[in-house]
Amino acid sequence: MFEQLVLASNNAGKLKEFNALLADLGITVRPQRDFDVPECPEPHHTFLENALEKARHASRATGLPALADDSGICVEALGGAPGVYSARFAGEPKSDARNNALLVEKLQGQANRRAWYYCVLVLVRHADDPQPLVADGLWLGEVRDEAAGSGGFGYDPHFYLPGYGLSVAELDAAEKNRVSHRGQAIQALLAKLKALA
Ligand code: IMP
Repeated sequence: MFEQLVLASNNAGKLKEFNALLADLGITVRPQRDFDVPECPEPHHTFLENALEKARHASRATGLPALADDSGICVEALGGAPGVYSARFAGEPKSDARNNALLVEKLQGQANRRAWYYCVLVLVRHADDPQPLVADGLWLGEVRDEAAGSGGFGYDPHFYLPGYGLSVAELDAAEKNRVSHRGQAIQALLAKLKALA
């Protein structure tokens, strides 16, 4: 296997989470800023293609195995939008408040509120790896007009979980990490890495 990999992100929360989970396998995860990896374009319309592009880019720049993630919210009545554009749905500069307001506006008069958070993780052992490891997770819920809760980030106050009777922003943070799209994808990736170890 390998002893370290570069994370195609500088997000401190993600770095900590991946390090904690991959420590068991003897893998240290390092942020791409440690290697001055230049910003990677995300030109594609699918999460998978963007994550693959980021992973290959980080691996090519560092010569190390690389892990990338991409995530967002997909709304059934909007044909899967905002999808890969979730962070900038309402334009620049990025704003959770404006993104949520736009989402609620677009769903006015719409009875179908089904939506899901999606996360994909892609790990390449080297930049031209012909067989990237891919793991994903999907978390089903519905978009509500009213915001509820103060936890989480992004669309969480409007993303309601019928099974819990809560919005994600009202859900305990540890429970979110356990069952979320990202949590599911990480567990799936771990299982794949363990099978290879
Ligand atoms: P990224 O893949 O971490 O850059 O996330 C892309 C965007 O998707 C975020 O800026 C949020 O708008 C949305 N998103 C992804 N995961 C979540 C989540 O767990 N809760 C709320 N919004 C999320």
